[in-house]
Amino acid sequence: MRSEGSVALITGGASGLGRATAEQLYSTGATVVLVDLPGSAGEATAAALGDRAYFVGADVTSEEDVQRAVDQAASLGDLRIVVNCAGVGTPGKVLSRKGVLPLGDFERVVRINLIGTFNVIRLAAEKMAATESVDGERGVIVNTASVAAFDGQIGQPAYSASKGGVAAMTLPIARELASHQIRVMTIAPGIFETPMVAGLSQEIQDSLGQQVPHPSRLGKPSEYAALVQHIVDNPMLNGETIRLDGAIRMAP
Ligand code: NAD
Repeated sequence: MRSEGSVALITGGASGLGRATAEQLYSTGATVVLVDLPGSAGEATAAALGDRAYFVGADVTSEEDVQRAVDQAASLGDLRIVVNCAGVGTPGKVLSRKGVLPLGDFERVVRINLIGTFNVIRLAAEKMAATESVDGERGVIVNTASVAAFDGQIGQPAYSASKGGVAAMTLPIARELASHQIRVMTIAPGIFETPMVAGLSQEIQDSLGQQVPHPSRLGKPSEYAALVQHIVDNPMLNGETIRLDGAIRMAP
């Protein structure tokens, strides 16, 4: 799959890992469509990238919004690359000093991180399947799980469930979309320097960085984006979830 001449749709493209991915794919020649919540920094991010970058204000959990975003992306050329980065963090513990975790908090995280990702895949895949096959491929979809899918921590039942779901659905969707020459991969990041993590105190960030066996620091968004680019470029990568975490195994 070549970035050059392809349209890439990136959810969560206004910030963090999504933004770095948009910058990476733009630099290798893709037309990039940043999909993020209305009012996010998406508009400014697209403007800063250049004339092959667009912003669509959309909520990934809305069928109507995502259809509009996918239609707009496909109107710009062949939609061949989709990267699902939109996501939200954990809502808290099952039982805490504040009481029982409200079911709605759990549902919200699963709805955005898991169902939102599936919503984008199903609507984008329809457009990707209709593009012309180039070098035996029509497209590639990259999702974002988390190491929380595998070694979840206290306070993260919803986040772990949502990201575990993303990892678990990768293979069945990849097997199905293979008949359309579309690959599906998932990256499970460790801890990366993004606004999602910037909310933690400096002390916690430093301690998390020290828990990474090597390189003993938090990941950089450009390192995530480099793996997306590698997945796009490598036709043998399909149906797999790759940990990108410096060998960290999260403590409970
Ligand atoms: P971030 O907060 O910087 O970016 C997330 C983006 O998603 C934001 O721009 C936000 O507006 C957007 N978003 C949230 N809900 C949305 C919705 N309903 N519709 C559309 N857009 C929505 O966070 P990030 O660190 O860049 O995270 C990107 C992805 O990587 C997330 O799925 C996150 O769970 C995952 N992840 C991050 C880390 C990390 O350490 N930063 C680790 C593991 C996994």
